[in-house]
Amino acid sequence: MTDWPAVATDLAEEFASRASEIDREARFPVENIERMREVGYLTSVVPTELGGGGADLATFATCQRIIAGGCASTALAINMHLFGVGAAAEGWYRGEREAEPILRMVSSGVIVGGSLTDAATGLNVRTSSTPAKPVDGGYVISGRKAFCSLAPVLQFFWGTAADTETGQLLLFGIPRATEGLKFVDTWDTMAMRGTGSWDVVFEDVFVPETAVQRGMNPDQPPVWDAAQERIFSWFAASVAAVYLGIGRAAAAFAYDYVGNRTVTGASLPMARQPAQIASAADIELTLRPAEAMLGDALRRRIDGELLQPADIQALKYVAVNAADAAVDRCVRMVGGHGIFRKLPLERYYRDVRAGQFHPPSNDVAIETIGKEVLGIDPNAEPRWPSD
Ligand SMILES: Cc1cc2nc3c(=O)[nH]c(=O)nc-3n(C[C@H](O)[C@H](O)[C@H](O)COP(=O)(O)OP(=O)(O)OC[C@H]3O[C@@H](n4cnc5c(N)ncnc54)[C@H](O)[C@@H]3O)c2cc1C
Repeated sequence: MTDWPAVATDLAEEFASRASEIDREARFPVENIERMREVGYLTSVVPTELGGGGADLATFATCQRIIAGGCASTALAINMHLFGVGAAAEGWYRGEREAEPILRMVSSGVIVGGSLTDAATGLNVRTSSTPAKPVDGGYVISGRKAFCSLAPVLQFFWGTAADTETGQLLLFGIPRATEGLKFVDTWDTMAMRGTGSWDVVFEDVFVPETAVQRGMNPDQPPVWDAAQERIFSWFAASVAAVYLGIGRAAAAFAYDYVGNRTVTGASLPMARQPAQIASAADIELTLRPAEAMLGDALRRRIDGELLQPADIQALKYVAVNAADAAVDRCVRMVGGHGIFRKLPLERYYRDVRAGQFHPPSNDVAIETIGKEVLGIDPNAEPRWPSD
């Protein structure tokens, strides 16, 4: 079995040397994706029986944390390929074979990416404002989606739309070359500038019935089963790991910086100043509980526990907000030199801000967790009382 964390460590070291330039130019790191292909990382989570690397979620999260420390954009972009593939692989090990064609396709080298986010209306995982009109043999989809990471290189696109007659959510997957499917570079952002998270335009795209999986009806109560748990766990844990990786990279940089800087008139490095010692402790006391919470959730899954929505949302919330707070403190430790572009800290500071926006966003997580502990059905109406 491949030592995936060792592979990730080598990749992170190499990617770190290019991360600043990728960020500066908001350039998609094609060469990093190629390196990942060469070392088998693009198929690392596919079952070995299907030609992949057999990595489980705990291993994948460890690798993503390491790679994010080198280039967060690269780690986040490839996360959008690997998390869904990994969840499908986990289902495959449990005997659910519907996704085997996708796993074989990935094993043959295809990169998968997608967008759930409607460009005009944002993200609601239960529905979509992208219309899918039923026609003979399938649907015709038109509209625009956004935030499609990996857009420059993906070969297979998956996304959501809503049946114009029933309102039912549809999940569909189509090859990049499908007529009317276009990817538009709109990605000029403050953070994660190398993820290539472009818009996707559908100009009367015909999607055959066989490429469509029906989701829930809008008025149907959501179900929570092993398949749901898998996809949300793979997503949340790997996203949490990416942002914790940024937090750890910033901490390592700050510790090294204050350990090696002695200001004029001082006899010892800055690391010996009480404020720096307190800052370092504060960073550890912020990151370690978040890392422990992620590790605990992953261990519980290995022991066979089906995580609940609030568990998953809490681990993602705690991780991305801990990473945010830790990087803030790193900037305070390093001081004014921390905002120079020649140092990586200001990139960590910008990149880490994006964590809060991945689903579940902070506000959505707070609602789910609060309602769960108060015993309030998340679907109870009215959603918010008016008096
Ligand atoms: C770097 C990056 C890469 C991404 N890559 C992908 C990708 O590859 N594929 C993909 O599908 N998506 C991707 N996303 C998009 C992401 O998953 C979200 O869909 C997107 O950020 C939503 O945009 P928004 O914050 O404008 O959401 P909106 O839905 O417009 O929400 C706006 C604000 O309202 C809040 N809000 C919305 N709904 C509720 C609610 N019900 N209750 C309380 N508050 C609410 C949100 O928390 C948010 O603060 C990516 C995002 C980032 C930052």
